[in-house]
Amino acid sequence: MTLLDHLRGEMAERAAKALIRRRRTLDTPCGPHAVVDGREMLTFCSNDYLGLAAHPALAAALKEGVARWGGGAGAAHLVSGHYAVHERLEARLAEFTGCERTLFFSTGYMVNMGVAAALVGRGDAIFADRLNHASLVDGALLSRAEHHRYPHADTAALARLLAASTARRKLIVTDGVFSMDGDIAPLAELLALAEAHDAWLLVDDAHGFGVLGPQGRGALAAAGLAHWRLLMVGTLGKAAGLSGAFVAGQGEVIEWLMQTMRTYLFTTGAPPALAHALLTAIDLIEHGDALRARLTAHRQQLHDTLTLHRWQLMPSPTPIQPVKIGDNAAALAAANALWDAGLWVPAIRPPTVPPGTARLRISLSAAHTADDIARLTESLHRIEAQP
Ligand SMILES: *Cc1c(COP(=O)(O)O)cnc(C)c1O
Repeated sequence: MTLLDHLRGEMAERAAKALIRRRRTLDTPCGPHAVVDGREMLTFCSNDYLGLAAHPALAAALKEGVARWGGGAGAAHLVSGHYAVHERLEARLAEFTGCERTLFFSTGYMVNMGVAAALVGRGDAIFADRLNHASLVDGALLSRAEHHRYPHADTAALARLLAASTARRKLIVTDGVFSMDGDIAPLAELLALAEAHDAWLLVDDAHGFGVLGPQGRGALAAAGLAHWRLLMVGTLGKAAGLSGAFVAGQGEVIEWLMQTMRTYLFTTGAPPALAHALLTAIDLIEHGDALRARLTAHRQQLHDTLTLHRWQLMPSPTPIQPVKIGDNAAALAAANALWDAGLWVPAIRPPTVPPGTARLRISLSAAHTADDIARLTESLHRIEAQP
């Protein structure tokens, strides 16, 4: 019983700090208008930036994939779970990202848990932006390399850390688009530093893939960057509307990752039907300029019409549009007031963001309408004006 007592104590402590999280249950497909816990809500919280998650073409492609390939893969890719359609998807992702080769995974979390350990280990060093996604932090710990975290987007601080390092091998790790701020990493400067210090550069473009750059090819394509020392991670559960992820790079590097990444070797391959549907998702992204234009128009509308006094709309160039409130309780109260008004916008508090920067995290989607954005703006004005 002592283990259970300990767990109860920890839970009570969390409850006292208002840190207990609860799941809300949706009863409609992913989209801006959803039935959540039995209530009709206008949602600004998914990563379904292009509105593909409930797209009829993707649902049809999944059905077609199941008819052709059945259910599961049956084994890990290197055993007997690698199908022709996985192969086609990897080739398509390589062509789309402009990288020599890609490796398809079940989730982005698994890519990020495994990739650093395949490139660096004891005696080596990782240099990571302080605001990187949790999966990159966990992957760095798992690699056993030294873990240096530099202040957010501070390339001068990174340059000093790199210059002072005597590590054998170095890996710089960054989000492409930062998930709680919506800003884009200084990718060209990071690559220049990687070259100057003979480091690898790993860019997790979970929120840029499908959204940024020509045809949605991502943050690196937007910056016009390509290099053998660059590795890009893309995830397929956000703009691509389904699930899965990939790592892309130079052919020899990807071959090495395939041979050595434990999160690739020791897990069952994703269903081939999913790979089949993902081919359609990539087509929709590639031909999705109209969807990306809608996203841009929504962002513009928000910036043109939202005039805040105590709060601050952060200057993000992506569909992630945070409103900084500062105080934890105030951010939570704002999210609750929005909820009562039928709008679902999450409050993000420490430790997910630095203390004193609690915020509402608005995510825009091409599936929103101009009326949806207008309703959001009006509600924010009204709630901010309440004492
Ligand atoms: C969502 C996310 C991941 C994880 O990807 P999944 O495919 O959902 O596991 C990794 N990195 C970042 C920056 C993310 O936002």
